[in-house]
Amino acid sequence: MTGTAEGKLIVISGPSGVGKTTICHALRGRGRIVRSVSATTRAPRPGETDGRDYFFLTREAFVAKREKGGFLEWAEYAGNLYGTPKEFVEKETKAGNFPLLEIEVQGVEQLRKQGWPGVYVFIAPPSIGDLRKRLEGRGNMPPEVIERRIKVAEAELKRTDLYDFAVVNDTVDRALAEVLDILDKKLK
Ligand code: 5GP
Repeated sequence: MTGTAEGKLIVISGPSGVGKTTICHALRGRGRIVRSVSATTRAPRPGETDGRDYFFLTREAFVAKREKGGFLEWAEYAGNLYGTPKEFVEKETKAGNFPLLEIEVQGVEQLRKQGWPGVYVFIAPPSIGDLRKRLEGRGNMPPEVIERRIKVAEAELKRTDLYDFAVVNDTVDRALAEVLDILDKKLK
């Protein structure tokens, strides 16, 4: 699929721990926004439901789907595979809806290469120190995992050229208001 998309995507990306999931939850169901549920090979976390948070697949099932061209984009992140099911996005864009994709940067790069039209938003932390504090505050990551995520975040922050907008998540309410304002102007 190259550049023939009929509709627009809403692509939200940014480092792990920046708060993009909270923003995406708040966007769901507004107007014609429909959340795309990704497939992943990582194990469900407590409270996550198959088909709602992710489609949890074995590596074999993921690779089989990928080989059949079933993903719009996919990436390996922290040892697990993640991908956006193509069928959902094609169906929803054709119906005039705006699929909301919360994905990491390698996936964004692929969508840009394919020429998918859309609104590409990068959610940035106020600073790396702030991001570290947020990751530490989650209380569920050993220091070396936090340091690895910080390294990845530093690399991601260098790829803001891939996006149309960068929104600093200083407070969720303000960042959400800014994202809504952008979508309001761009999804006409
Ligand atoms: P987590 O394991 O914390 O849920 O997600 C890890 C990272 O993978 C996050 O940055 C998340 O946005 C990203 N991600 C989730 N689904 C997809 C997907 O379908 N494609 C890509 N490229 N990244 C994804």
